[in-house]
Amino acid sequence: MTTTFDSIQTRESQYVLQTYRRQPVAFVKGEGPRLYDVDGREYLDFVSGIGVASLGHAHPGLAAAIADQASTLLHTSNLYYHPYQAEAAARLTKLSGMSRAFFCNSGAEANEACLKFARRYWHTLGVRDRTSFVAIEQAFAGRTMGALSVTWDEHYRTPFQPLLGPVTFVDPNSPESLYAAVNDKTAAIIAEPIRGEGGVRPLPRAFSDAVADVCRRTGTLLIADEVQTGLGRTGYPFHFQALGWEPALVSVGKALGSGVPVGAALVSDKVAQAISAGDHGTTYGGNLLATRAATFFLEELMERGLLDHVRSVGDHLERRLRTLALKHPVIAEVRGAGLMRGVELRVDATSVVDLARERGLLVNRTNEKVVRLLPPLTITAAELDAGIDILDAVLAEVPAEVHA
Ligand code: PLP
Repeated sequence: MTTTFDSIQTRESQYVLQTYRRQPVAFVKGEGPRLYDVDGREYLDFVSGIGVASLGHAHPGLAAAIADQASTLLHTSNLYYHPYQAEAAARLTKLSGMSRAFFCNSGAEANEACLKFARRYWHTLGVRDRTSFVAIEQAFAGRTMGALSVTWDEHYRTPFQPLLGPVTFVDPNSPESLYAAVNDKTAAIIAEPIRGEGGVRPLPRAFSDAVADVCRRTGTLLIADEVQTGLGRTGYPFHFQALGWEPALVSVGKALGSGVPVGAALVSDKVAQAISAGDHGTTYGGNLLATRAATFFLEELMERGLLDHVRSVGDHLERRLRTLALKHPVIAEVRGAGLMRGVELRVDATSVVDLARERGLLVNRTNEKVVRLLPPLTITAAELDAGIDILDAVLAEVPAEVHA
């Protein structure tokens, strides 16, 4: 195996399709909230693989469960039963209040499944023209054709048109635009309770209330995209619960396998009743490895105190960030909840991300000016402090001209 950064980069540039703009670092090892690069340098990881490594890196319990499963049985397909899908599904339904789970392999696939199930619901009811979707400006739902169709960013969409339609995007600062967009042809509204890729932007209260209201009044299905916000990340099992939503479908991914790729579409009873065998499927979906990992993560969250831990350290993180905002005029706003936080700068966030990485802290830039923090859910207050101290020093160094 190649072991220097330069040799890894050279081989990648030769053989890997160049769809990503990577940062100049290659990681080979992790432990808790720490990552180690190919040269042995240590980093505090406040990205956690974009909200995925929910239990941190190389979690001993998860590693043991995965190793045990790998040496027992990994995959048999959905042609047969195995013990772990039901275990993971039972916990997901208890946590969300939904009645059933469909397993897939990513967040995009979870949204794709939700869009299909929403259409299938109306089709089963004999309402064949209720096929359109309402989505929200700055939403991100993934890169497959369906998920891309309800994703806002034109750069992601334009080269691949025509996409699934009709889709109407509404301005979350205008509840009126939502009321105007939803009509008797609308199958579902899809919404992230806090738009993650869009800059860690919570929905304004008036808008989130309007989402609940319009769904109640018109019967429009609500798909809560909880791929980033769900499973404890914001201090709630799911963030829709903080908004008083009653979704018919909920998509999850990221944190669920703590690094093992797994997603799920959770559906309410009325949607479940409309789905028949053969309506949807995937070869890998919910295999033994994925659902064993998911079950382990859900036990940590629900039975071993992880959710309470996130609430407590999330409050600590918020206090630290608010203090930082008072100190550094380059910070325009601090947003988010729990361990999902965005620090919006008055300038492009690239230099802060680069400087932080050079100082041993990984943070992520999203929506140009936003420094996003998504540390592992297991992070301690002391580890958060160590990372915020680095960010503090970096912000003090942002070149004077970019403050303008
Ligand atoms: N939905 C939301 C809210 C997301 O943040 C993401 C990914 O960032 C997705 C869906 C797509 O998930 P994936 O990249 O696993 O396909």
